[in-house]
Amino acid sequence: MCQSYQTPPFSPSTMNDEPLALLADGMLGRLAKWLRLLGYDTDYDNAATDPELAHRARAEGRVLLTRDRELAARRGLRTLLIQSEVLEEQVREVQDALGPPPHPPLSRCPVCNVALETVPAAGVADRVPPYVLKTQTEFRHCPGCGRIYWSGSHLQMMRNQMEKFTTGGPADE
Ligand SMILES: [Zn+2]
Repeated sequence: MCQSYQTPPFSPSTMNDEPLALLADGMLGRLAKWLRLLGYDTDYDNAATDPELAHRARAEGRVLLTRDRELAARRGLRTLLIQSEVLEEQVREVQDALGPPPHPPLSRCPVCNVALETVPAAGVADRVPPYVLKTQTEFRHCPGCGRIYWSGSHLQMMRNQMEKFTTGGPADE
């Protein structure tokens, strides 16, 4: 197919001063969750149609992540075609193409992408199990869904998984 107009090459560093923001298509739910944990602002809506995704990416200045070649080729849209079906490789594709996360790891809710707020232990005393309250000092609250996060148990597992991502995983050495 011959296109008479060329979309200017996308350059995240020179595009604008806004922090990088992403929008994952319906097939990339797991990737979206991990990108949030890593510190990427990643919107995700598995009910949105292609035109809706395109409109939203354009309106909110988000880079659209998709495995759909047609959608990725749309003009006037910043897109990243995700090639791999393997989650860890997908994360690496995003990092390689768009650079490191603009926000600190574990600063966003993996469920709803809202920035987490730090809350004192006293503020969550009635909302977390007593043993957690005894062993943890730092709590984060999601203003979106109300979930409480702390840096124990499951969060530690996520950290380990993230280190695997960022260091390239169990290298084939
Ligand atoms: Zn949330």
